Amino acid sequence: MARDVDTDKVVRQHLDMEGFFTGYVIRGAQSQASVEPFQSGPDEKSPPESRPGRADELEAIAAEVRECCKCSLNATRTHAVPGEGSPTARIMFIGEAPGADEDAQGRPFVGRAGQLLDKIICACGLKREDVFIGNILKCRPPGNRDPREEEIFNCLPYLQRQIEAIGPEVIVALGAHAAKTLLETDKSIGQLRGRFHEYSVGIGRPPIKLMATYHPAYILRNYTPETRGRVWEDMKKVLVELGLPVPERGKG
Ligand code: URA
Repeated sequence: MARDVDTDKVVRQHLDMEGFFTGYVIRGAQSQASVEPFQSGPDEKSPPESRPGRADELEAIAAEVRECCKCSLNATRTHAVPGEGSPTARIMFIGEAPGADEDAQGRPFVGRAGQLLDKIICACGLKREDVFIGNILKCRPPGNRDPREEEIFNCLPYLQRQIEAIGPEVIVALGAHAAKTLLETDKSIGQLRGRFHEYSVGIGRPPIKLMATYHPAYILRNYTPETRGRVWEDMKKVLVELGLPVPERGKG
């Protein structure tokens, strides 16, 4: 029966997931995925004027998102999902839009795709709290349909403000919708993934490196060693770009 096949598949994926994105260890150095919050004195990496108040700014954006009724998605959502994570994150993961689990909890990537994203983050030697996780759309499209142009148009400024407030060194766009929206291109995820692009934050500001990779939900649907291997290759490039240690498979 189809139901038994699906259950088998889910169990197999779960066991595989345990195996593939776990067991990586960092030899030597410590993780530095977020920078210390600004206390006092200058910091070489980012201009001091951009550092204080990041958490307040993110909270103000989140409050606006929760009240937002710029498009019809506010009528069908249970909770808006502003995004969450470190205000000083060096990496931002950006997905497409909340699904049913995220809509129910008001938090990004907490369903099955989210569990896989957690594993990927962990395989990188990082913790979920080290990074920032958000979406192009802050509310769930009914039935998980694709985001519509006018929804993206209304919602994207929230994400742009979050990116500006955090000032990450790398953005990881998860899947075609995030990559195409942020890079303003029609290219496929297959063409975009695997190399760095530049996300423009505006005139006079240096662009942010953007790595496109497969969406965790796509990985779950295409659970092959090739797909997982490509995502791991993409993430290793991100770690190298940030000067973070690349974990190796542990010996047990
Ligand atoms: N898929 C997304 O793109 N975002 C989420 O938050 C969850 C699933």
